[in-house]
Amino acid sequence: MADRFFPNSMPEFVPETAPSTPLEQQEAVTVGDSLPKLLAMPHAPLWERLKRAALDLKETIVVETWGLSGQRARDFTLYCGLLGTAFLLLKSYHVTGNANDLALCSQVVKACDAASATSRDVSFLCGRAGVCALGAVAAKLAGDDESLRYYLAQFEKIKLPRSLPDELLYGRVGFLWACLFLNKHLGQGTVPSTYTRVVVDEIIKNGRAMGRKLGRCPLMFEWYGEKYWGAAHGLAGIMHVLMDMDLKPDELEDVKGTLKYMIHNRFPSGNYPASEDDRKRDVLVHWCHGAPGVALTLVKAAKLFGDKEFLDAAIEAAEVVWNRGLLKRVGICHGISGNAYVFLSLYQLTRDAKYLYRAKAFACFLLERAHKLISQGEMHAGDTPYSLFEGQGGMAYLFFDMIDPTQSKFPAYEL
Ligand SMILES: [Zn+2]
Repeated sequence: MADRFFPNSMPEFVPETAPSTPLEQQEAVTVGDSLPKLLAMPHAPLWERLKRAALDLKETIVVETWGLSGQRARDFTLYCGLLGTAFLLLKSYHVTGNANDLALCSQVVKACDAASATSRDVSFLCGRAGVCALGAVAAKLAGDDESLRYYLAQFEKIKLPRSLPDELLYGRVGFLWACLFLNKHLGQGTVPSTYTRVVVDEIIKNGRAMGRKLGRCPLMFEWYGEKYWGAAHGLAGIMHVLMDMDLKPDELEDVKGTLKYMIHNRFPSGNYPASEDDRKRDVLVHWCHGAPGVALTLVKAAKLFGDKEFLDAAIEAAEVVWNRGLLKRVGICHGISGNAYVFLSLYQLTRDAKYLYRAKAFACFLLERAHKLISQGEMHAGDTPYSLFEGQGGMAYLFFDMIDPTQSKFPAYEL
């Protein structure tokens, strides 16, 4: 089990030092490459380092996924493919204001549009909705009305098959997330609530039917015969998106009851099972399966319901992430970058400096050690090493987000 993650030997908390003279400021940026020095480094110079590392990584990722591929999308998805590069470019644009990033983002989405035209997948992370929604938002930012109209018209053409699952990666909530993304960036009502309501009704109906069959929990879902709990395919991801929808009081109660069922049936360690029938293997501490994905949903529930049980459970899940979440992978889905967002999310809710430190610790571990550990074969580079969700794209995204930790958002998941 221990070979999945590095033992976390970093201190529980290190207060930042404050450089007093301009020379000390300068030294903080240029000198000191050991992890303890980075952990004690003052906010401004450390953030400057992370930004530089993020920009360098972004350049590499663009070359590897776009330049060297002949500017074509073999895999168009945001999860592991070219749309992830576009999403990273949009992030870079938001941080630096560099119009070249936005222009390149639009170009990359255009290639993804061509590659996904006949795709039947409908979600933001793995389907056509991600391409159309990101294309529309980039077009809006660039003042390109023609492309904006085109992508919105394409979005309207997306049909949800009856056999669609409800989960996030390929299913109904993955499509709803694209609607939420459009409404957030283009204005409420861009996708009318009458339209999203039909999808929510279907999800609630399916969840209640399976919940009744099981007799333990108000809502339950299946994906390929498994009743998953995690963010990617299961309850955590579905509840996460449902909490952003306009729910009726009885639906809200069912979401609340489902999350309480998960809390009351987690592992004694504080971690969460990957699925309803997998109660013995307390192994995975990933966003996709395990405490990290559940923690982000619990933080949202704590905000929405103001119920201390959710906050306490989120804090306990974050302890699991601190102790067992320094994974031997860099990415967002099942790597250190994704796990760092648990601390950022808790920091935003509690403003407790401990959580900002812990996010910083995971980011600094990556900054200082990831490349070395990968080249020594002690860390897995990911099957798609430059992708957003499994590769270094996620690391770059986290570094950008560390620059303003009060505004960070787990990519394509936190709104
Ligand atoms: Zn994963």
